[in-house]
Amino acid sequence: MKYYSINRKSPLVDFKEATIKGLAPDRGLYFPETIPQIDVALIKNIEKYTNDEIAFEVIKPFVGNCIPKSKLFEIVNETLNFPIPLLPVTENTFSLELFHGNTLAFKDIGARFMSRCLGYFVKGIDKKLTVLVATSGDTGAAVADGFYDIDGVDVVILYPSGKVSMVQEKQLTTLGKNIHTLEVNGTFDDCQKMVKQAFADDELNKKLFLTSANSINVARWLPQQFFYFFAFKQWLDKVHPPVISVPSGNFGNICAGLLAKKSGLPVDHFIAACNANDVVPKFMHAAVYQPQPAVATISNAMDVGDPSNFIRVLELFDNHFPNLKNVLSAYRINDEQTKESIQKLYEEYNYLSDPHGAVGYVALQQYLDHYPGKQGIFLETAHPVKFYDVVEPLLKIKLPVPDVVREIMNQAKQATMIEPAYGALKTFVLGL
Ligand SMILES: *Cc1c(COP(=O)(O)O)cnc(C)c1O
Repeated sequence: MKYYSINRKSPLVDFKEATIKGLAPDRGLYFPETIPQIDVALIKNIEKYTNDEIAFEVIKPFVGNCIPKSKLFEIVNETLNFPIPLLPVTENTFSLELFHGNTLAFKDIGARFMSRCLGYFVKGIDKKLTVLVATSGDTGAAVADGFYDIDGVDVVILYPSGKVSMVQEKQLTTLGKNIHTLEVNGTFDDCQKMVKQAFADDELNKKLFLTSANSINVARWLPQQFFYFFAFKQWLDKVHPPVISVPSGNFGNICAGLLAKKSGLPVDHFIAACNANDVVPKFMHAAVYQPQPAVATISNAMDVGDPSNFIRVLELFDNHFPNLKNVLSAYRINDEQTKESIQKLYEEYNYLSDPHGAVGYVALQQYLDHYPGKQGIFLETAHPVKFYDVVEPLLKIKLPVPDVVREIMNQAKQATMIEPAYGALKTFVLGL
């Protein structure tokens, strides 16, 4: 499998190079040259396959010869270290829970897969690999956990001091070993700017092999297809495939779902469930894409004003708007509706949801109101305890603390405080 740059001004690369580079030299996102078709026997007999076997079959054509089959199977097996159950919630909706991993959000899958691929690739490179990430919380936690103790890879995480939750801070700062955390006395934008400066610094790039682990990397994007296959495996009415609603921010996860459908997975329809950051709902209405500054909401992992993966969605449909519209609908759900549905799901259906999953639920319900014969799945992308400050006062309950959280809360924070100046980052990275 080869990958081309969506800007079409860079050479084709294989999976290894696309993963190491992240972004093409012309600043375009990498995209697979062909969409592989999944074996019809796998779809027909999907219940007979283990999750590891399904994931291996799905990802194999995308990786090509870059990783030997036995090693790839091992990577898939290590990636899928937690259950992904599909649970009935209301009369016509189900929840696919993606939050049972170490950092309690779906990003664990992409981060674990990517880190193990890089760990394999780095063996053939003579320099040590340094992964730089700026985070507002969730991404850094998944990346830190995913890359922990991977040989030959150093990770440097930058987060804005005082602007992540207590749980997130512990997830970012308690690992140690090859995970180095910088607490930046500034904002998330400062962190992101410093990371960008590092990638543009010739001197630094000569000395070190720098790469990024953000969500546009193919090795984080592609394994997210697994969710949709696991959902279908557990879906009982195989004759009538589900409508799937995906809480969306940067549109990496839903784009992986659309890719799975293109490769032959039965899905009735996709719903992009957005909060007040409604660039895509507006686009799906008027076919005009207009980025806007991000606005803060209670589903903050989706506060994105210019979703970086949406261009891949367009590419998947050859920029043909009517074809896209047949498969995808998008909804804008506000904070009030989100809160109401967290309450309703708990009080009427005894289901605990987080703000992101709740956005997915409302959008799905709005769609199903128009199509009463259909049934659907909303993705629960984070554990409610990650957003206890929203959920607990609404439901007037204390959420049980999962073991993985209790463990890290007792561990000591290890972070280096720096000023929001590029020089401080450079000195730190060179001193590793
Ligand atoms: C990152 C994130 C999202 C958005 O996913 P995208 O792939 O960026 O669209 C949704 N929910 C949670 C909890 C997240 O962490």
